[in-house]
Amino acid sequence: EPGLYLVGTPIGSARDITLRALDVLASAEVIAAEDTRSLRHLLTIHGIALNGRRILSYHDHSGARSRDQLLEALAEGRSVAYASEAGMPLIADPGYDLVRAVIAAGHPVTAAPGPTAAVTALALAGLPTDAFFFAGFLPPARAARRSRLKRLAEVPGTLVFYESPRRLRASIADMAEVLGAGRDAAVCRELTKKFEEVLRARLADLPDLVAGTTLRGEIVILVDRGQEAEMDTIVLKRELTEARQTLSL
Ligand code: SAM
Repeated sequence: EPGLYLVGTPIGSARDITLRALDVLASAEVIAAEDTRSLRHLLTIHGIALNGRRILSYHDHSGARSRDQLLEALAEGRSVAYASEAGMPLIADPGYDLVRAVIAAGHPVTAAPGPTAAVTALALAGLPTDAFFFAGFLPPARAARRSRLKRLAEVPGTLVFYESPRRLRASIADMAEVLGAGRDAAVCRELTKKFEEVLRARLADLPDLVAGTTLRGEIVILVDRGQEAEMDTIVLKRELTEARQTLSL
């Protein structure tokens, strides 16, 4: 079938890829990837031959030319598979500009979905999952990071951040100060990999906990909603219940 296929790839363990994603990679007429080497490696692991297909390099910054190449292939009725380096494309990864362009051009877009670190971490953190906000990477500069956090303080849901090990301590310290030291939080490291680890503590206690472990690897930080946001949620739920009752009268 022609169209763009967004392919979810593993976030650690190479076997975390769906059978359908492998089918799509095996049969797509055109394959594009954020990182051609890592995709080639994944195909090798799963015994998928390229059969003369080239893996085109695409990330949103690679510009209009490589995007046009993919759009042309779609206009010719070909199937195009796109994978980012890990997890789902577009989730703190390239693909957004491509999807916008493909939608604007009127070509079909579909997905062969796979794991994403944010949702995997959310499932393991032990924090509320009824509502969550994916905040991606915080700005590396302290002032910008704190002002971003200030804007996130009122979000009525679990906050999910991606973070580099180098900035983990600084980010946690800022979160405790700006969001409130009493909030429950979790640090999820190396998900689906050999050294997978989940640390759960109040933001105030996380620095000590984190100090006792290696900080290497890939990290997701999660923070529970604040008390005021909690109240908003309760009010919201009550209003919703009342509205439902009114409607069914
Ligand atoms: N597209 C990916 C996804 O769907 O999750 C995210 C790509 S982003 C460039 C990479 C960041 O995701 C890492 O710095 C880390 O914060 C998070 N991440 C990816 N894999 C992870 C893993 N196995 N464990 C914990 N965090 C992970």
